[in-house]
Amino acid sequence: MTSHAVAFGQKRIPFLLDQKPRKSLKISVMPDLSVAVSAPRSYSLDKVLSKVQRRASWIVRQIDYFKGFMPKQPPRQYVSGETHYYYGRQYRLKVARANRHEIKLKGKYIFVHSSRPESKPRTKRLLYGWYRDRAKQMYSAIARRCFERLEKYGIKMPAIDIKTMRSRWGSCVHKKNKICLNTELIKAPSHCIEYVIMHEMCHLKYPSHTKQFYNFLSLVMPDWQKRKTRLEKVVL
Ligand SMILES: [Zn+2]
Repeated sequence: MTSHAVAFGQKRIPFLLDQKPRKSLKISVMPDLSVAVSAPRSYSLDKVLSKVQRRASWIVRQIDYFKGFMPKQPPRQYVSGETHYYYGRQYRLKVARANRHEIKLKGKYIFVHSSRPESKPRTKRLLYGWYRDRAKQMYSAIARRCFERLEKYGIKMPAIDIKTMRSRWGSCVHKKNKICLNTELIKAPSHCIEYVIMHEMCHLKYPSHTKQFYNFLSLVMPDWQKRKTRLEKVVL
């Protein structure tokens, strides 16, 4: 593999090139924002560079996309006094001993009632169980709202899957009419959650990040860029 770069406006796009026995050139933008290019052995470097150059605006769009979808996770201890987020608000964690496991929001606190409050893995499990329950309710309510705006374009209400993903807020399984949403998204404000859901639901009509996709997203959610910018500032 060799390193190269093309320019796009003021931006420089570095990429790793791998030449192997294949028929056509393939460009992949990884969630870590790196760009990998596989090209046939027969291609000269000039040919590779000009082909990558022609896809530069697409590459930049992919990179921008992943930038907004990359939660950074500071290490958490799951102890009393620590700051945690829920639905765009900041809370203090309070871990207390109790016979019954329970999570409660009260004022500025998230109370975690645990039979073993000294066990941080248990506190984390309890908290995330609660996050998932809340996510299930909130995401489907928000998705129904998005669906009302999308229905007339022939989009069907998708199934919603909630899982923990390391580098994405959401994804879309177009063929199964299903969208996957990150559990962590429940920490974001509702208008950001709505943006991610709308984005993924638009993929049911346009699976990849083409111009038509963005035109459609702008039509059904004119202020999506503002929401995306806010989402980039979400602390997990
Ligand atoms: Zn997308």
